[in-house]
Amino acid sequence: MRAHAPSYARVGPTTAVCAVALLALGAAAGSQPDRPPAPDWRTPAELSDYRTTPRYAETFEYVRRLVKAAPHTLRLENFGRTGEGRDLIVVIASKDGMFEPAGLHAARRPVVLVQNSIHAGEMDGKDASLALLRDMVITREKAGLLERAALVVILIYNADGHERFGAYNRINQNGPEESGWRTQALNLNLNRDYMKAEAPETRSFLRLWNRWLPDLFVDTHVTDGADFQYDTTYGLDTGPDIFPAQAEWKRTALAPFIESSVAAAGHVVSAYLNFKDDTDPSQGLTIAQDPPRFSTGYINLQNRPALLLETHMLKDYRTRVVGSYEFLRAVLEVVNRDADRLVTMNREADAATIAAGRTYDPAARFPLRLESDGTTEPFGFRGYKATVTQSEISGGRRVDYSHEAMETTVPRQTTLKVTLAVAPPLAYIVPAQWTQVIDVLRAHGLRVERTARDWQGEVDTYRCDGVKWLERPFEGRQVLFAPPEGGPHAKASAGDCVAARATLVFPAGSAVVRLDQRAARVAIHWLEPQAPDSAMTWGFFNSIFEQKEYAEAYVMERVARDMLGKDARLKEEFERRLAEDKDFAASPEARLAFFYRRSPWWDPRIGLYPVGRLTSLQGIPLAPER
Ligand SMILES: [Zn+2]
Repeated sequence: MRAHAPSYARVGPTTAVCAVALLALGAAAGSQPDRPPAPDWRTPAELSDYRTTPRYAETFEYVRRLVKAAPHTLRLENFGRTGEGRDLIVVIASKDGMFEPAGLHAARRPVVLVQNSIHAGEMDGKDASLALLRDMVITREKAGLLERAALVVILIYNADGHERFGAYNRINQNGPEESGWRTQALNLNLNRDYMKAEAPETRSFLRLWNRWLPDLFVDTHVTDGADFQYDTTYGLDTGPDIFPAQAEWKRTALAPFIESSVAAAGHVVSAYLNFKDDTDPSQGLTIAQDPPRFSTGYINLQNRPALLLETHMLKDYRTRVVGSYEFLRAVLEVVNRDADRLVTMNREADAATIAAGRTYDPAARFPLRLESDGTTEPFGFRGYKATVTQSEISGGRRVDYSHEAMETTVPRQTTLKVTLAVAPPLAYIVPAQWTQVIDVLRAHGLRVERTARDWQGEVDTYRCDGVKWLERPFEGRQVLFAPPEGGPHAKASAGDCVAARATLVFPAGSAVVRLDQRAARVAIHWLEPQAPDSAMTWGFFNSIFEQKEYAEAYVMERVARDMLGKDARLKEEFERRLAEDKDFAASPEARLAFFYRRSPWWDPRIGLYPVGRLTSLQGIPLAPER
């Protein structure tokens, strides 16, 4: 079968460059029967003229061809396994075969991690990445993009969702003909899982992240939402929770280059558009916190710049894939150009995080929650003319987009302000029995020390009250926050957590997380209960709010009488409450509970956050590090 074997199989390790020549010789080769046909390096999407996107097996078949043809520039690495048992694979592209993170970091060569297919109906980035890899190592038209940078590409992150393949997975989207499903096999949205890290895919990602510690991260998507002219939109965070040098670089170097370079390649590009009202762009664009349940918000906490790519669902598949390609190309051009600045900035961010964690500063203000401060600037919005009529089907407004371009100036919010901040402690101490909470800390790559023996002591913590849960599960959990996806059932509240001093018990083996480490910001967001994606917010501490012992009414009657007889001030308080609060006065249960809560039988641990904020490590029986 030698004559019919595909010629790429014979492209030896040192002859990858020849692929270009072979391509050029394609026509001539066809006329010579004794020579094999030139290899066809078109990607599966290109071969179908962008009608289709390849399945998991076909994707890696193409990638293996690339690796075989350019083994000194490309390598595959397995980084985990999905719930259904599929291998999670990254492609590493490096100009000289340096495939180890330590060597790349030592040479100050920035590592760029591109993540595709987290939502496996959104395939643009995957097909763009295949073409880009080909153009780096086979045609070598884009070989220069590896001059300083090394590229690590996750082609199919949500591999199980990817193989839930069908024509009816993306109702709003214009091609490809079939694609995968948004969530993974447990129906969890991986792009809500970065902090709680429940899915096997997330655990694999975190191992990959900690092994490579990339200098820049890109997550590729296809947007939903209103119709407009832009085919390529991107998001990057520059708020007060971002290191100033990184924010400055994103604002003044990265974003302007992406905009001009992608536009010069023929695309209509803009920063991500969040409309106040999707049916009425004139109301303007909003800005919101990017919390760490999302990939980009999480990477921010890891001290690295993150970029979100969102192509527009209604543009044809070719436009979107090529737009994604140009976007990734532009990002890599900036990374190569600014390689030293990027590497230095990231190292300084790590060093600043570690330095801040070495001492306890009660005046420090670490931002946990942010929202728009209302500042706006005029934005020239390139939309489509739309007619709005009353719909006899929905009974509401019906928006009908034409494809007639229109331009209008709308207000765009520009600035986030900090609405909740804390002074981080020197370390957190988590009682040994909260194993899931500790396990997540470790998954994030945080250094966790253990206590050698039981310890009891007075620590800073919180007492939380007024907590409400979302009526329906969110990402499989009973959460304390109302996510935008919560819809009409969103009635939740993280309540009020008030700083408190309490004597808590920490059994031997309790986890101590010092904040003088590079991922300290992740620990703070996980363990400060009022952070938007804390363990508390995600429901990992729900059981602390449950009352487990109850007083019988006839027992409480006796106790209450006894308490009233001994305490004149309590009697006065009770009577005032009866006079002022009708609901209280009308409820026998509430009236008895008033006394139970004030009796020594009441469980003081209800609502008491069991994690301690240590402002000193003196007296903490830390086990010697192994
Ligand atoms: Zn998406």
